[in-house]
Amino acid sequence: MKMSQMAFKPLKNPPANADTINHKLLVQAGYVRQLMAGVYTYTPLGLKVLNKIRNTIRKEMNKVGGQEVLMPSLHPKQNWVTTGSWDSVDVLFHLESRTGKEYALGQSHEEVVTPLAKDIIKSYKDLPLALYQINWKFRDELRAKSGILRGREFEMKDMYSFHETQEDFDRFYQEVKDAYIRAYRDVGLTAKVTEASGGNFTDKISYEFMVLTDAGEDDIFYCPSCEFCVNSEISKVKEGENCPKCGDEKLKAGRGSEVGNVFDLGQKYVKDFKLTYTNANGENKYPIMGCYGWGTTRTMGVIVEKTSDEKGIIWPVAIAPYQVVIVSLRGMEEQAERLYNDLKDHNVEVLWDDRDDSPGSKFAAADLLGIPARLVLSERNGDTIEWKNRTDDATELLDYDKVLMRLSQL
Ligand code: ATP
Ligand code: MG
Repeated sequence: MKMSQMAFKPLKNPPANADTINHKLLVQAGYVRQLMAGVYTYTPLGLKVLNKIRNTIRKEMNKVGGQEVLMPSLHPKQNWVTTGSWDSVDVLFHLESRTGKEYALGQSHEEVVTPLAKDIIKSYKDLPLALYQINWKFRDELRAKSGILRGREFEMKDMYSFHETQEDFDRFYQEVKDAYIRAYRDVGLTAKVTEASGGNFTDKISYEFMVLTDAGEDDIFYCPSCEFCVNSEISKVKEGENCPKCGDEKLKAGRGSEVGNVFDLGQKYVKDFKLTYTNANGENKYPIMGCYGWGTTRTMGVIVEKTSDEKGIIWPVAIAPYQVVIVSLRGMEEQAERLYNDLKDHNVEVLWDDRDDSPGSKFAAADLLGIPARLVLSERNGDTIEWKNRTDDATELLDYDKVLMRLSQL
């Protein structure tokens, strides 16, 4: 992509209303634009990042046997009445049509996936079943804040599974927890697995995946040496106590942002919708159900909170919109065009700042955008190309072929 043609270019100034790093940098660099509090457009740049996060989690969900679907966001009122959530879920948006008919906007999809699964689960041979989607959610959050960390319209990967026995559920639950940890690592995050209560519909333990960041909204106690972490709201342990898991260190208090969670839903929803199957003895039984949420858009914001500096974003290579940005200084347009075309031929995701602008402002834009590698072509460097990693101060002068080789190996 040539920056001169890019629809959303980096802005000179950050937005005035930004309360967090992700809001400030994502808007200023041109990854998102705010429509109103908690509602954002993802620009072509932002969508590239979001797609990489989506694909990372998609790969892991497919690996554990999840099958991808896309469910509607407009729901009939009756499904929400059936589960009691029409009146009890405070964030549910209620809609009335001009004919007086009422609908809900999907804030989660148990009310849709359970009747959907009821259609296809008839016998024990149809179990286990895991369906997932990557889709937008609508929530009437009291305070939509912190950029894309808390939206009123946000994206989630949500998976729902159905099992014949508690043992089979427990096996799958563990597989998904492991898959989550791998996927967080692949997008450049370390997520702590936090024990939490299962919400209002079950007394079972659920797990939240927390990333330590001051922009988060959860108070947690965590062990600095092992992965032990609990939400302070329900915690029996306190700050300064020895870690109950490893015993080596004293627990610290911190702020976390919940990037995902997994719940044992038991038989709440299958009973509400009378979803039964016939077991091997010909008896009618309710399956055990689980749900597994992952905030894809929140994940994007949390990555920016974790990896940025005073100059801008620092994307992990795996989810950067482009792997490399070419900065051509005046008089180097022809050489830059050749390099740009060669890199595209080698399938390198390359951005070229071909604008007629000062070197200083081009360097600032490259840093703000957070592209992992920067290549500078200038008359002073002759035929060699200056390579700089976003994370380093040092630069290297490399031959043309060396640059091609290095990038095509990425
Ligand atoms: P929170 O406690 O942050 O409100 P939640 O318990 O309501 O989260 P779930 O309903 O289980 O979350 O949603 C699954 C995931 O979706 C969360 O772990 C989080 O990553 C993401 N998420 C939830 N609410 C929002 C929101 N308003 N904006 C962006 N992401 C969200
Ligand atoms: Mg919530």
